[in-house]
Amino acid sequence: MSCPMCRTRSHPRLTCRSFFGLAPLARDQLCPSCRAAFVFYASGNCPGCGKSGVAEDACPECAYWHMVYPEKTFAHRGLIHYEGAMKEVLQQYKYGGDYRLRQVFSEIIAAALGPLSKKGWQIVPIPSVAAKNQQRGFDPVNALLEAAGIPQTPLLEKMTATAPQAGKSRQERLRLVQPFQLRATLREQPICLFDDVYTTGRTLFHAKDLFWRSGPFWQGTENLISISLAR
Ligand SMILES: [Zn+2]
Ligand SMILES: [Zn+2]
Repeated sequence: MSCPMCRTRSHPRLTCRSFFGLAPLARDQLCPSCRAAFVFYASGNCPGCGKSGVAEDACPECAYWHMVYPEKTFAHRGLIHYEGAMKEVLQQYKYGGDYRLRQVFSEIIAAALGPLSKKGWQIVPIPSVAAKNQQRGFDPVNALLEAAGIPQTPLLEKMTATAPQAGKSRQERLRLVQPFQLRATLREQPICLFDDVYTTGRTLFHAKDLFWRSGPFWQGTENLISISLAR
């Protein structure tokens, strides 16, 4: 076994069961010093977006989203602060196309999503632009979930960019245009959307909006939440 981040080797704890092939060997785990380079989210965060240090109803960013989507309640949780080592590793993974780095987070993602998945929640990955995936050679969110052993329900499809609307700036269009569509009929089973990074929230709100428009089952946070690896 070796640390997927620094490649330091460690000795796996061999049990009788694993020695005789009765139990699978544990997957690669982060060594303590690599793990310590990440700042994990604890409790006391904004329930709407996971921002730290805001335990009230809505942080200023969520207050904005409440204006954009009136009457909607939403919940999001980030796992690791998007800063320092986390930012570097994720950028090298996504933009540097370093596929091996998907393993760095598998234990962390499995711990967060595994229990939901076992309870019957559908884990829905947020798709990336197909052309970028092609260039990179893999879909970053799919690969993270795959490495963590989390079953995925790929309900979302990213549409190709639509024709420019006259009188609107590029940024305005990006803000307004729904980039996703549903690619399958929905089963009424709770959904947890999963993305690699939460920055403005724009992407996840577009995705949530699709489900909000799909019926009463998806209103509230009983059956629809989101989690991102970084926030
Ligand atoms: Zn390490
Ligand atoms: Zn918030």
